[in-house]
Amino acid sequence: MLGKQLPFNKAQIEGIINQFPTPFHIYDEKAMVENAKKLVQAFAWNEGFKEFFAVKATPNPFIIKLLKQVGFGADCSSLPEIELSEKAGITGSDIMFTSNNTPVYEYKKALEIGANINLDDISHIDYLEQNVGLPNIIACRYNPGSLKAGNTIIGEPEDAKYGFTKEQMFEGYRILKDKGIKRFGIHTMVASNELNPDYFIETAELMFNLVVELHKKLDIRFEFINLGGGIGIPYRPEQKPVDLQYVSNGIRKKFDEIIVANGLAPIKLFWEAGRVITGPYGYLVTKVQHIKKTYKKFVGLDASMSNLMRPALYGAYHHITVLGKENAPLLEKYDVTGSLCENNDKFAIARQLPIIEPNDILVIHDSGAHGHAMGFNYNAKLRSSELLLRTDESVLEIRRAETIEDYFATLNFDNLKHFN
Ligand SMILES: *Cc1c(COP(=O)(O)O)cnc(C)c1O
Repeated sequence: MLGKQLPFNKAQIEGIINQFPTPFHIYDEKAMVENAKKLVQAFAWNEGFKEFFAVKATPNPFIIKLLKQVGFGADCSSLPEIELSEKAGITGSDIMFTSNNTPVYEYKKALEIGANINLDDISHIDYLEQNVGLPNIIACRYNPGSLKAGNTIIGEPEDAKYGFTKEQMFEGYRILKDKGIKRFGIHTMVASNELNPDYFIETAELMFNLVVELHKKLDIRFEFINLGGGIGIPYRPEQKPVDLQYVSNGIRKKFDEIIVANGLAPIKLFWEAGRVITGPYGYLVTKVQHIKKTYKKFVGLDASMSNLMRPALYGAYHHITVLGKENAPLLEKYDVTGSLCENNDKFAIARQLPIIEPNDILVIHDSGAHGHAMGFNYNAKLRSSELLLRTDESVLEIRRAETIEDYFATLNFDNLKHFN
């Protein structure tokens, strides 16, 4: 039977539930850190290589601090994400600021701390200069349009709201050079949750060729090439993870053939991956409240799509394990649901599972990225706690569950007294 491994057993989880009620997300420190080290090791051949963890995937300073210890920086797209990274001890050029539709106050902060700034649009060159000032080093985000096929989550590059066209890349760097900028980086991000390793090698090749062309036309040199994020994870048990060593070997070959051969080395390679770093190492743990039988059979959980909205948002598959029934035959077909008043509040539809009873504990896999992070308060659902399963098997609460007081905290009750 195809399954997915868990870093804990039922007895351990029952112990944890005694202290921290369900639902909660729990992250596996050991596996997460080991995987993070593998990425760094795979690219050790590139001097100055750095991964900037995409904070939006798992915006928790404990996670960011663990990743900093592996040598990661932080990829941020808003002021609060920058400040969160600073809380975890990451600042200055260890921050990549890749934003879009950016307001002045966010550029101001990025410039103030000396973050790497990636521009999303050619009009932002003047916007930045007039409102904030230009940094010493700057990058532009490339959208290859029809020159590159997209994938399902991010869509076709031509439809994507991100980045400069190819023509604008030449125009943008020319303008920046004329304004006196001497230090340049370059960025792209064209895929999301992509499992084909060759896709990343092809993207790197596209960028290396563009760097050569830009150098030849404009006589500028690049200090870094940021290959973005988008490395997929095997949500389904039959899928395989992206082989990072294979990707690295393929990129190295292109780097030698294109960058080194044209005399443009050294150039630092950067990633700003999020999902692949934390996604597989988070688990949403939830208890069964009710079993309902009408035209279909429903499992009702104490978690809702407000804890993990990927299935509702893009029909995403998340594997489900019923604790203690790992080897039981899959005798029933269930819709696994939350308690929101929205009929797409389902973690799985027509999923073949063991026979489930109230109080069973379900583990929803791969909730480590875009899980708690995408949470919301619709139906006044309170956001859950986040726990860290430490390498020594102890459990640390790294975010407490919301309370009703938290939910009320932004309401102007004082004004309500005088309101009629
Ligand atoms: C979301 C995002 C990332 C991370 O993407 P993953 O698919 O999580 O690796 C990196 N850079 C930018 C600009 C993003 O928006």
